[in-house]
Amino acid sequence: MTLLPESWDTRIQRAKELAHESDATKEILTFYAKLLQSQKEVDEFLRSRPGWLPSGSLAEDLPVIRECSSVVLRTVERNGPPPLADEARGLLTAAGTVDQLLLSYWQSPSDTQFFAKAILQPYMRWLAESGGHPLDRGFESIEWRCPFCGGLPQVSFLKIKEATSESGNRDLVCATCTTNWSFRRVACAYCGEDRPTKLGYFHTPAYDHIRIEACDSCKYYVKGVDLTRLGFAIPLVDEVAAAALDIWAHEHGYTKIELNLVGL
Ligand SMILES: [Zn+2]
Ligand SMILES: [Zn+2]
Repeated sequence: MTLLPESWDTRIQRAKELAHESDATKEILTFYAKLLQSQKEVDEFLRSRPGWLPSGSLAEDLPVIRECSSVVLRTVERNGPPPLADEARGLLTAAGTVDQLLLSYWQSPSDTQFFAKAILQPYMRWLAESGGHPLDRGFESIEWRCPFCGGLPQVSFLKIKEATSESGNRDLVCATCTTNWSFRRVACAYCGEDRPTKLGYFHTPAYDHIRIEACDSCKYYVKGVDLTRLGFAIPLVDEVAAAALDIWAHEHGYTKIELNLVGL
């Protein structure tokens, strides 16, 4: 497990920049920038709490997370697409429901549990950075699942790690805790398939540094961001901006391994 070096501010800035580049994704990236800002506030709240570190037991840490989860809910209520905004409004008034959402996501993360995923990403990340481990949940240890929390990959990226390597090493970024781990360069990030004839790639000139990495064995795909082509790209954010590639993948019968926080 390693940690992408970028700060919340770098991610927010990148989302704002990309929002100006395309009318098609302006709205979702503007929303994503606001959402990242609220996640940053959750993160800062957790880190600045005197004498407190996450225990790794969500049930135990819940009272602390509860205190800051409304930042995310209020942001979505004000800036999210109407169905999500309505849901946020409901959650802000229904005491106890958010606890249930978080606990159920903790046991079995799902990309359709938007609020729990958004609230728990900063918590999980801080748990990883502060040397903790998830305690009260089990997960399988598989090469193509996050070694820290068992989460699915949100995006993959290529980056040159050693001076001797020219084409770059591949990492996967966890959708649940946003840490990353190195993975085989030519293999499906969902089922591990590594026969080249079963793996397909798609990219368009519109996004020179991003491609679809699809598998014909399991029919799942993930987006790959090539940092050897565009060093200042931010995988989690650039992946969102390349929404047009998701349309191509769906039209060709592939399912995304994990939907991102704007539901694409
Ligand atoms: Zn993880
Ligand atoms: Zn596969």
